Amino acid sequence: MNEDLTEIGVEAKIYGMPPSVGAVRIRSLGTAERVRNGLAKFGTFLGIALVCVFFPIVHLVLVPLSLMLGLHFAAKTMRVRGRIVSGSVPCPECGEPCLLDAKLAQWPMTADCAGCRRHIGIGPVETGKPSPR
Ligand SMILES: [Zn+2]
Repeated sequence: MNEDLTEIGVEAKIYGMPPSVGAVRIRSLGTAERVRNGLAKFGTFLGIALVCVFFPIVHLVLVPLSLMLGLHFAAKTMRVRGRIVSGSVPCPECGEPCLLDAKLAQWPMTADCAGCRRHIGIGPVETGKPSPR
């Protein structure tokens, strides 16, 4: 098991509000784990395609569409190199900490504030120096 953790700063943004800054700890994913995540994503779309087979006429569009979307999102998921272990960022609107854990570190991400129910856009803090990838 690959257990090297890195801590990075994240920035929460809501339109019209000054951004707030928090930190998350990210565990690097090994190649096997990234492939497994991608296959799980493709499996979801394969399941949707199999269900769509039973709908006459529309299956001509939905089955190939589901499979193509499955390939697209599986490739996108396989490119994600880390999983957030723990961390939070305060909501720019109300200051309630928004917990980010057990998510793939896929930027930008969104979360909903538990306090004010606002939709928050979350991304890594731009420091100007290249991120260690
Ligand atoms: Zn809030």
